[in-house]
Amino acid sequence: MSAPPERRLRELAEVSVAKLRHVGDKRAAALASMGVSNVFDLLTVYPRRYLDRTSRIDLSDLRVGDEAAAFGEVTAVRARRSRQGRSVVDVTVRDGDETMTIVFFNQTWRERQLAVGVQALFFGRVSEFRGRAQMTNPVVDVVVGASGEERDASKVGRIVALYPASGKAGLTSWEIGGFIEESLRRAGPIFDPLGEDHRRQCDLVDRTRAYWAIHLPQDAKEATVARRRLAFDELLRLQLLIALRRQRLAASAAGVAHPFDVSDLDARLRESRSTSLVATLLRAQAFDLTGAQRRVLAEVGGDMASSRPMHRLLQGDVGSGKTVVALAAMMSALGGGRQSVLMAPTEVLAEQHVSSLRRDVAALRVRDDATLGGEREVRVALLTGRVRAKDRRAVLYDLEAGAVDVVVGTHALLSDDVRFHALGLIVIDEQHRFGVEQRAALRDRGRARSLEGKDPDLLVMTATPIPRTAAMVAFGDLDVSVIDEMPPGRRPVTTEWARDDGSIARCWQRVRDEVAAGRRAYVVCPLVDESESSAATSAVAERTRLATGELRGLSVGLIHGQMSGADKEEVMAQFRDGVVTVLVATVVIEVGVDVAAASVIVVEDAWRFGVAQLHQLRGRVGRAEHQSYCYLLGEPPSDDGRERLEAVTTTSDGFALAEIDFVMRGEGTLLGSRQRGRSDLRLAKLRDDGDLLDAARQLAADIVAAGGATLDEMTDELRLFVDAQEAAYLFKS
Ligand code: ADP
Ligand code: MG
Repeated sequence: MSAPPERRLRELAEVSVAKLRHVGDKRAAALASMGVSNVFDLLTVYPRRYLDRTSRIDLSDLRVGDEAAAFGEVTAVRARRSRQGRSVVDVTVRDGDETMTIVFFNQTWRERQLAVGVQALFFGRVSEFRGRAQMTNPVVDVVVGASGEERDASKVGRIVALYPASGKAGLTSWEIGGFIEESLRRAGPIFDPLGEDHRRQCDLVDRTRAYWAIHLPQDAKEATVARRRLAFDELLRLQLLIALRRQRLAASAAGVAHPFDVSDLDARLRESRSTSLVATLLRAQAFDLTGAQRRVLAEVGGDMASSRPMHRLLQGDVGSGKTVVALAAMMSALGGGRQSVLMAPTEVLAEQHVSSLRRDVAALRVRDDATLGGEREVRVALLTGRVRAKDRRAVLYDLEAGAVDVVVGTHALLSDDVRFHALGLIVIDEQHRFGVEQRAALRDRGRARSLEGKDPDLLVMTATPIPRTAAMVAFGDLDVSVIDEMPPGRRPVTTEWARDDGSIARCWQRVRDEVAAGRRAYVVCPLVDESESSAATSAVAERTRLATGELRGLSVGLIHGQMSGADKEEVMAQFRDGVVTVLVATVVIEVGVDVAAASVIVVEDAWRFGVAQLHQLRGRVGRAEHQSYCYLLGEPPSDDGRERLEAVTTTSDGFALAEIDFVMRGEGTLLGSRQRGRSDLRLAKLRDDGDLLDAARQLAADIVAAGGATLDEMTDELRLFVDAQEAAYLFKS
């Protein structure tokens, strides 16, 4: 007898859930609402946790104050209104001889969900009410529904998988488990693209066993081993995509070799006679490059000079001097007659970049035979949504004609109507939230928009340090350069969390003292909800309050996202010139704003901001030799908020703070924008699975290098996870 055929994941993805015995239209629709339409989807609905049927807590063992999981069958349900008018659902649950009351406030739908006969697990804190154990608003996992669905309990092991049974979809954990079990039985053995060798090398069980054991484990150990294999697969697929993308990029690139002379970075640059734009730019700076800037610029320069397009991430803490590195790269491009794009996350920052770039390049001259003297100045243009139609048309015309050298804007910069004469470089400032795909799309668009049709180099800058494991995923497609040294003479910003009236009074006094000494201050108002308009309202009110109260007599200005570009530009100029000495702002100033005279920043309701965001805000001061101060105001309503404020107060190391932020937030936001197709990090946890990630990265590199059957099989599987356009790019031969 021959062995049954092994099924590939792609084949499982071709079988609709409607083919399962107990799935009719209604349940198919319920599954679809959970994002499950085929058998492969179903197998990747992983258990949220496991219920060990032999060792679950008896209701009689529950202690008041415990966080506990209690299992029981519903024996009574009653909906009522409390005296305050809140809706209340009382549920009585029995396990053996013991009973317990569960109370839900404002969750009327629980009456339908927890009908008599339903068996469920309740997670929550045990309290006492009139001498009886009680839970209030616990998390609920329905295991068996009221009708006692068909799943053969005798076939389920000691350990029962609990699925994220959604009350809305109306499917119980028991039903989902039943569908999965049927799928596994009917699928038979599942093909494993990794051979024995690879599995042994990475200490992994085979796929068939992994899928069975994660859903129907005999014991906890089995479930753990299964999870390891399936999490590894997720990370391997991700790393393979990244490795393939890199390979593609290298093979298909039609890049430009820009002129870049590394000796222009020499420490004796000031005596050199080099007339390159890069050398002239660096000589014109008031400062010498730090060692770190020099090293990083050599790396960037190497990329610029190579015809392989640069694909580089430049990390450096706020104030470490990333801008001059980017500017040197732009001048290298310009030296070869090519244009550059600088993309900023906000209009304020774009406007600021334009004015400081113009200052920085004022001394430079570009060859231009069309002019009388044979040369002209460097032309820097602004292109944001707020530029007036007439000006915009002029800039567009000049870009296409090659008469603008550097164009600065927000991410809308590469919209359809923009054409370049010869685009050579795209710089993205402070945009760590850009994902892998967005970067690829940007490069493609850059090439398509340029009459020359070459791949532009890409330099991504961020002051938000990315933990290593996250960087390997979110930035795995980029080479990384780090500026790990601050310009000389900077003093760390003194940070204080002002919690009582006395310290708050001292905070405002500090603002007055610093302004009296010729400095400037920022006051940052929180985003009350997500809307920019409510933030603007609170900023307007706060400015009035301060100008007539604590900061009476000072010139208090206002900036927020609802103001016109011209108004923002004007108030920033006034602040820079000292006409305005205190600037009340929303988070529009979060990134990049550079006013060296600013020495105090007060952040109101600071707990509403994330750790990385607070660190960015703090980076707005301490940008020159004088001592600077950061005050965090507000009493956090949660432990979480307190931890964040303490972290920022005690640490000024951006990398350490990024780790904290990452751990507190989870990786969701990092990956959020990355996935276009099916989301594939369901089991893997970047912060816990660092070793697994290392192993996956290594194996991905080996597989891509070796080619052959394993690569073909994995490629076949990857098609499940990328959209058609991406697949066409990555897998064309
Ligand atoms: P960021 O890395 O946060 O973008 P910037 O490039 O805005 O930092 O630089 C912060 C400030 O430090 C700017 O005013 C810049 O002119 C100045 N700066 C940059 N490099 C040096 C250096 N090597 N020595 C002294 N000042 C520098
Ligand atoms: Mg910057």
